[in-house]
Amino acid sequence: MAFKERVFSGVQPTGNLHLGNYLGAIVKFVALQERYDCIYCVVDLHAITVPINVWGGPDVLRQSTREVTAAFIASGIDPKKHIVFNQSQVSGHAELAWVFNCVARMGWLSRMTQFKEKAGKDRENASVGLFAYPSLMAADILLYRATHVPVGEDQKQHLELCRDIAQKFNNDFGDSIRARGFGDVFFPLTEPLIQGPATRVMSLRDGTKKMSKSDASDYSRINLTDDADTIAQKIRKAKTDPEPLPSEEAGLEPRPEADNLVGIYAALADKPKAEVLREFGGGQFSAFKSALVDISVAKLGPVGAEMKRLVQDPAYIDSVLADGADRAHAIASETINAVKDIVGFIRH
Ligand code: ATP
Ligand code: MG
Repeated sequence: MAFKERVFSGVQPTGNLHLGNYLGAIVKFVALQERYDCIYCVVDLHAITVPINVWGGPDVLRQSTREVTAAFIASGIDPKKHIVFNQSQVSGHAELAWVFNCVARMGWLSRMTQFKEKAGKDRENASVGLFAYPSLMAADILLYRATHVPVGEDQKQHLELCRDIAQKFNNDFGDSIRARGFGDVFFPLTEPLIQGPATRVMSLRDGTKKMSKSDASDYSRINLTDDADTIAQKIRKAKTDPEPLPSEEAGLEPRPEADNLVGIYAALADKPKAEVLREFGGGQFSAFKSALVDISVAKLGPVGAEMKRLVQDPAYIDSVLADGADRAHAIASETINAVKDIVGFIRH
């Protein structure tokens, strides 16, 4: 069966949105709007998989959900042409996740590096939700039978798991799928879209660690709401090495911090890294950093300002989410009804 092409992706309402989220995900979301029908979700069910003192409690969750929605709109996502909503408003996510919890195997989920990293040493104390996170993520995607999912490199393993779950569901229920007239397969094998020079933006303090919301040092990341002075300070303090920039891409390989800054510049300028190096290769970091400050402020400044303006109007944001949820629900309920019939749950 040929599936209708559709894009789905999500961002958690936890902590500050940073340059990694922007370049690795949100910028891609914006670009894909031209070619596909897109569904962009603020994944609040995922947010509560970490301890409550980490996600911040009910007031912080509401605030962060509106902030991520504002970031989507401020970056250029059109919530009228496409769909923007928060996950918990469409019950199909949790319903399908339960079915997938029964399709996915403990062994598959035990291999997920995100769980290992986030659970840390005290695995006994991690929430069951954190362990089952990837099966909820598969449900998010497959609830809309999405064919393409733009994500950062860190989510590649979860996308592979999503395909494994789809395939096992298609196999386990093959007879029922055919008997119900859905063809040979019910769920698509979704393609991850992980492309460009900034699929894994690294910490500004340590080029071997992913830029992350949870890093204790605010100097490790550039937040979308940072003002121009803060952006400039963080880039000037970013870790580098004493060598001048190389002129060829191969020269970046053993130099993670240089590679990261060049990748960020390339993504912001929408140029390949090689072209950035043709311009700045052989020069000192100080000159390159000045140019990086300029382009960062020019690109992020208006997004941050628009985000701050939008969050002043929570009623507007909530109306966007409500409208998106209604339209998402219309698609989701078709899938859920079909899944119930395929699995054998009686419904009226
Ligand atoms: P957390 O640490 O809470 O998981 P996060 O920064 O990873 O937060 P998510 O909401 O989990 O944020 O991810 C949203 C999107 O941003 C995903 O597509 C993810 O792959 C992408 N992303 C996150 N960090 C980076 C990064 N450093 N570089 C590129 N993409 C990233
Ligand atoms: Mg993440």
